[in-house]
Amino acid sequence: MQASKLFDPVKLPGYNTKSVLWGIPFILGGEDNSVCLKSGEADIPFENEITAARWLVFLHAAETPQPAAGNDGIYQNFKGVPPISETICEYIIYYSDKSEVSVPVRSRMEINDMQLSWGQGAFLAVPHIRATAFQTVTDDIYAGRTPKMSWGQSQYRTESAGSGGESFNKWLYAWENPYPDKIISGITVKHHNGNLFLFGITAGNISQHPLRYGRRRKFAFSINSEIDGNANLLDLADIDLGHIISVIPRPFYNNQEWEKSYNNQQPEYRKGEYIAEFNAHDDAILYIGSHGEKIPVAVNKMPDNIISINPAEQPVKLIVNGPDGAPVPVKVHAHGRAGEYLPPRNRHRIPNPYWFEDYSVDFVHGQHWCTYIDGAAEYLLPHGEVFFEISKGFEILPVRQRFDITAETREIIINLENILDWRSKGWVTADTHVHFLSPDSALLEGEAEGVNIVNLLASQWGELFTNIGDFNGKRETASDRDYLVRVGTENRQHILGHISLLGYDGSMILPLTTGGPDESALGDPVDITLTEWAKQSRLQNGLNILPHFPNPRAEMAATIVSDLIDGVEMTSWGDLYGGISPYSLSDWYRYLNCGYHVAAVGGTDKMSANTAVGTVRTYAKINTGEPFSYQAWKNAVKAGNTFATYGALIDMRVEGREPGGKIELKSKAGLTVEWTVASVTIPVTAVELVINGETAEAVRFDKLLGSRSGYFNVKVDSSSWIALRIRGHHADKPEIITAHTSAVMIYIDGKPPLNAADAITILEQIEGVTAYVKHLGTKAQEKQYKQVILSLTSAHRSLHNRLHQLNYYHNHTPEDHHDRH
Ligand SMILES: [Zn+2]
Ligand SMILES: [Zn+2]
Repeated sequence: MQASKLFDPVKLPGYNTKSVLWGIPFILGGEDNSVCLKSGEADIPFENEITAARWLVFLHAAETPQPAAGNDGIYQNFKGVPPISETICEYIIYYSDKSEVSVPVRSRMEINDMQLSWGQGAFLAVPHIRATAFQTVTDDIYAGRTPKMSWGQSQYRTESAGSGGESFNKWLYAWENPYPDKIISGITVKHHNGNLFLFGITAGNISQHPLRYGRRRKFAFSINSEIDGNANLLDLADIDLGHIISVIPRPFYNNQEWEKSYNNQQPEYRKGEYIAEFNAHDDAILYIGSHGEKIPVAVNKMPDNIISINPAEQPVKLIVNGPDGAPVPVKVHAHGRAGEYLPPRNRHRIPNPYWFEDYSVDFVHGQHWCTYIDGAAEYLLPHGEVFFEISKGFEILPVRQRFDITAETREIIINLENILDWRSKGWVTADTHVHFLSPDSALLEGEAEGVNIVNLLASQWGELFTNIGDFNGKRETASDRDYLVRVGTENRQHILGHISLLGYDGSMILPLTTGGPDESALGDPVDITLTEWAKQSRLQNGLNILPHFPNPRAEMAATIVSDLIDGVEMTSWGDLYGGISPYSLSDWYRYLNCGYHVAAVGGTDKMSANTAVGTVRTYAKINTGEPFSYQAWKNAVKAGNTFATYGALIDMRVEGREPGGKIELKSKAGLTVEWTVASVTIPVTAVELVINGETAEAVRFDKLLGSRSGYFNVKVDSSSWIALRIRGHHADKPEIITAHTSAVMIYIDGKPPLNAADAITILEQIEGVTAYVKHLGTKAQEKQYKQVILSLTSAHRSLHNRLHQLNYYHNHTPEDHHDRH
């Protein structure tokens, strides 16, 4: 801690230990020679001459007598423990001109007890340990530092030492000297009550109360020296009479082009550029930099490498109106001219991006920080320009807008336009995969992201069980605007795979995990398969989704072959720019190639604030005229009329048939594929026609925003499937697959497609799983074990028999030795 140069410690007889408290230098006595006064009085001459002292700061503490309770345990005329305003002593201040002044020293006023229970702070004195800022435990662990406390508490990012409890406090009291021009020669301490301990005195020539700091302020600074990647950024700034609140890398936004930049576009990082926040005494000195090159900075006179940031103190209400003119939930980001994040008053100033730590309604997109609001929010904003970003899903044009905040600004209003309204055509959006949020937080985030349905999934992670109390097996948490949250479960096994059982009725389907780490707990047996979980979910009216398809890439092959899967999930996690993975598609195409007509859905697997609900999402079309409901959505996904998307919307019809539909042909034929593609977020660059997994045709666009329609004419000469794949990207990002429809199946002569090479890979996958269960997986009790094997062999047999019926030859593996062939 830096010591202020504006103080002159008083040298008391026998005192010689230098110390700095609250940025104030002291010379303290050792343990044995502090003044301890239990009666009478003590004269204490000053060994150095104290002149021009506007303030004397005393470091002292008391032990006040305990009050006595009556026989009933009640105190009469109770003054508290310690009592308020009990005089402990008085300090008689002597001036060299023989005049004197008496200073009363009263408990919980100028002094307080060394040991206190909670909530007994002093009114005119402060504990000797100042509050400090620090990083969270997880920040510390990731940087290789030793955390100082538990992670929950560390999210305060502040340690307020000396507030009571078990700590041993000394107290600083600053007395304003009415005669600062006189020389002070010494003091006499006169005892009144209890015990007094005087540890030190210092004199300050400082304009205002030395223990009273100002409001929060920020500044941006740059340093030239290299910073160790694991350095604690809080060490880059220090201050004598104040607190450093935070030091974070400074985000650089292109404020000039703000309105033209796109939603979620991240700011730039620049080496050596930071924003620090502090609060301080007017006479404080700031020190910045590392490796010894600290630069003193008078708070009010900043040098060139420091940019003072207007304090955010103007109360302003933000209102965001939807297309119908009423306030609607949205995602919001705001920053000031230096790039400093401006959150609403009740949101994190530094949101926590870590796994299972904080389920706040924030979105941490690298250094681009956002939060979710219900249509209105209270801000404290700086005067000058502020930059807002508002978004609400894939159908409403995101807004980046600037405002000039003045002393008169009370309210800012942002109006959203509905550019695409696919809800009115029956489309319902959903995230199939969200963890940890409370149902109401998920509802707010879903509504703000334009996601009608959030599937919140309870699960087990080793010995950790999450969202268990949120599961009710019967009802949704809903708003009155076609938004709802339903809690299902994600049942998981680290080798066999994961399955999301959405919105089923009745009891929770157990076990939530099997077979040991890293999903299940040590020693848990493999006592159920995905296939059996899926069967149970069907009995309970559930929707069965394979999350983060196809990984873990194993038993889901059996579950799909058993016709128990309604959708395969394209998953984003926190990646806004990766698009639908070609790896996921390649695996899904194998099943379509074998006639397993499984829909594509989108889900985020959100597990922390670094993933936004609905980053990739499911569009499902409910039947015309059917009112919005969770059941209607489940029916739409089961029917397969869906697409998964990062932003592009896509409507496809093959001979009038929508995705999930089937066309029966007697023989080969020509078909028309009509499509409409639209986007107000990621520009579209290509619409590709996919037949049996191969790109049959494509139309390219020069970054299309808005809507476009067209058609393809195709010929099919064998049983096939047809889907559309959309590509697109922002100008500064590589092209990705932004959307993919589910398939329309074409049966010729009543037969589904069957690609023998793909079928064999599916069989091999099931054989691998069977081998695992037979030889390696923790064995369940005999009855369950047999059931597990049975579910795998019957799935294997169903596809195997289809192959044999068509007289395909294939090698049988040792796990598949059956006698008849
Ligand atoms: Zn999973
Ligand atoms: Zn998950």
